[in-house]
Amino acid sequence: MKTLKSLKTGKTCVIQSAAVLIDAVESGIDVGFCIRCGEDMFHVEPDIHGSPCPACKDSTGLYGAEQLILMKLYYTDEEKAETETQAQNKA
Ligand SMILES: [Zn+2]
Repeated sequence: MKTLKSLKTGKTCVIQSAAVLIDAVESGIDVGFCIRCGEDMFHVEPDIHGSPCPACKDSTGLYGAEQLILMKLYYTDEEKAETETQAQNKA
C-alpha cells in the first residue's frame, strides 16, 4: 500500500500494488479497496467506483479492484519482480 497525492485535487489517495489488485480480481470474491483509507472490502460490486466506504466513512472512497486497474490506480514493484526473475533463473 502506497499513497499518492493528486495534483488536481490535492487529496491523498491510497493505492495498492498491481499484484494485489490482480489477486483480488482473480479471487472471484469481488474485492474492493478504499482509496482514502486503503481498507479492503469483500463482496462489493466489481464495477463500483466512488461509493461510500464503511471503514472511514468517506462518501466516494470505495472502488472495485477491476475499476482501480482500469483507472491505473496501482503501483508496480519493479524490485520485487526482478528478484523473482532471478530466483526463477536459478531454479
Ligand atoms: Zn475508507
